[in-house]
Amino acid sequence: MNGFPSYRGDLRYVCTHCAGSFPGSDLLYTCPACSGVLLLEDASFDALRERSGPDWQEVFDARAAGRNPALSGIFRFYELIAPVLEEEDILCLGEGNTPVVPASPALQERTGAAFAFKNEGQNPSASFKDRGMACAFSFLKTLLRKRGWSSVLTVCASTGDTSASAAMYAAYLGESVKSVVLLPQGKVTPQQLSQPLGSGARVLEIPGVFDDCMKVVEFLSERYPVALLNSKNSWRILGQESYAFELAQWRRWDMRDVCVFVPIGNAGNITAVLKGFLKLYALGVITVLPRIFGVQSQHADPVYRYYAAPATSRSYAPVAVRPSAAQAAMIGNPVSFPRVRLLAERYEAAAGPDSFHVLQVTEQAIMDSMLEANSHGHIACPQGGECLAGLKAALQYGLVSSRHFSILNATAHALKFADFQNLYFTDAFPPDFGIRPRPELTNAPEAVLSPAERREMGESRFLSETAARIARRLDLTPRQAD
Ligand SMILES: *Cc1c(COP(=O)(O)O)cnc(C)c1O
Ligand SMILES: [Zn+2]
Repeated sequence: MNGFPSYRGDLRYVCTHCAGSFPGSDLLYTCPACSGVLLLEDASFDALRERSGPDWQEVFDARAAGRNPALSGIFRFYELIAPVLEEEDILCLGEGNTPVVPASPALQERTGAAFAFKNEGQNPSASFKDRGMACAFSFLKTLLRKRGWSSVLTVCASTGDTSASAAMYAAYLGESVKSVVLLPQGKVTPQQLSQPLGSGARVLEIPGVFDDCMKVVEFLSERYPVALLNSKNSWRILGQESYAFELAQWRRWDMRDVCVFVPIGNAGNITAVLKGFLKLYALGVITVLPRIFGVQSQHADPVYRYYAAPATSRSYAPVAVRPSAAQAAMIGNPVSFPRVRLLAERYEAAAGPDSFHVLQVTEQAIMDSMLEANSHGHIACPQGGECLAGLKAALQYGLVSSRHFSILNATAHALKFADFQNLYFTDAFPPDFGIRPRPELTNAPEAVLSPAERREMGESRFLSETAARIARRLDLTPRQAD
């Protein structure tokens, strides 16, 4: 089963607005006819139906056990992702295959639900962005090779993780790919900023928020020869679909009573999740679609607001974001909103009106939930906390009950957001976040002795005296001699 797949599809960009269709061999970001947002679709997808659903399950399961590196990560689902890439162009830096970790028994009991986290922070650049980036860079490699380009300049706007991921893949490819990232000054964490810097990317900062940076890179990519690596680039969405495929495989292809929680920022991730499950369903790889729950903070909730209105009177409007601890999702005008609207409609047509929900949660609930998760052995970032807050809201509204099993996307590693944890622990969130620490969730280091005390003690007493102090603090009684 190590053989590379022979199937080649016919990828085409399809416009979410005018339904125009354009060859997937070009690098397009928006519809040449109407400027609408695009999705990549395989025009020969129906050929994949020659294999039955159970046969596809077998193919994917066999690859999971195989050793071909080009089929070991997200491209295990090659035929469903980008079946136009050649093996030599596929770039794998260890993305995908992230663990699904059931919530600790105590956390499940406290929450009143059965659930797990999928730890996307265990991707190579410590967020889910690597899935889509692996696919986008594999396509760039294809373009470099086929068109004989000597180099390509990539740009992206980022709330932190896109730039970390783009810079890492670009650095791996070396001289042929130069990476420039545009960040909102002061609105990415120090850890996230350190990543593109360490990868050697050009890091440009702009006063403002992500939405401002996004407008600038869109403007640039329309007028200059640069490759845009935001999720507006449909190749990113294709790779991202692997999240849905892996979840289904982890469930042994049984999605009955499964609820999937995803934070929504620029809405690329939820687009990919909807699209991915629809593909599996179309091929009979799964016979039931899971229910999808998007979650947004009260401080950045345009998608929530759209779906909160009755179906007959919905209208989309960008919002001005307010400071959010779920900073990686702090986006007021999600680029992928038209994709979500289109795919949610298809999803609901296939699985019923109860199959897609968007929930809104408070900043307080986001941070409380993140710390609750991590104090139970998880590694959730604030956006993972946002998913848990969303699950709690869904339980409260009666959308989820004890018969359901929920899978929450812990989208990045907790360590990237250490500063937010610190703001919580020290009660130092600026007032506009509206977050106050709950004492039982805070923690702080305790000094055992001061430097002056240590000097006074001298080296002879340091060991016994320090140990004695610790034993007193911990209420330990000395061991009895045997
Ligand atoms: C990008 C990102 C999000 C938001 O995902 P979208 O695809 O933009 O909706 C959430 N969490 C983390 C950690 C991210 O990096
Ligand atoms: Zn169009």
